[in-house]
Amino acid sequence: MSDPVNIIETKDITPAAITADNKCDFCSALCCSYITQELDTPRTMHAFDVLLWQVAHKGIHVFKDGNGWYLLSMTKCEFVMPDNRCGIYETRPMICRDHSNSACEFDVPIDEGCDLYFQTFEKLDNYCRKRFKTWDKRLEKFEEEQAKAKQKKK
Ligand code: SF4
Ligand code: SF4
Repeated sequence: MSDPVNIIETKDITPAAITADNKCDFCSALCCSYITQELDTPRTMHAFDVLLWQVAHKGIHVFKDGNGWYLLSMTKCEFVMPDNRCGIYETRPMICRDHSNSACEFDVPIDEGCDLYFQTFEKLDNYCRKRFKTWDKRLEKFEEEQAKAKQKKK
C-alpha cells in the first residue's frame, strides 16, 4: 500500500526473538518519529481543499481511522538519543507514558492500520475527485463565493 518514502517502516527481525521487554531495543524509536493532531471531520470541498494544501507539504500526511481524521507530521522528537532511547525518560509527557508497545508502529506501519491514508497531494486529490462530482470546478466556485461576500460587505 505504501510508498516507502516517508512512511514508518518496521524492521525485518525474527518474531521469536522479540518479547515485550526487549521489543523497543530492536526499534528505531518509530513512535517518537511523528506527531498527530486530531481534525474536525472534513465534509465539505472547502475542508478537503485545506487538507490538500496541508498534505502538499513534505512530511505532512492525513489519515482516517476508527477514531476519526488526523494530521500526521513526520518529525522526530528532539529527545530521541543516538541509541534511540528517550533523553528525558523521567519527565517525558503523558502521551509517551501511555503509549504501549503491545501493538505499536513496530508491528504495523501506521498507514496499514488506517481506513484512509494520504501522503501526497495527488492521492488526496484523486480521492476528492471521486468523492465530489464538482471537485475540479471548486476553485471557480470558491472565488465566486468570495466575490459575492465582498459585494455584500460594500
Ligand atoms: S513502543 Fe513500539 S514503536 Fe515505540 S520504540 Fe517501542 S517498539 Fe518502537
Ligand atoms: S519525549 Fe521521549 S518518549 Fe516522548 S517522543 Fe520524545 S523521545 Fe519519545
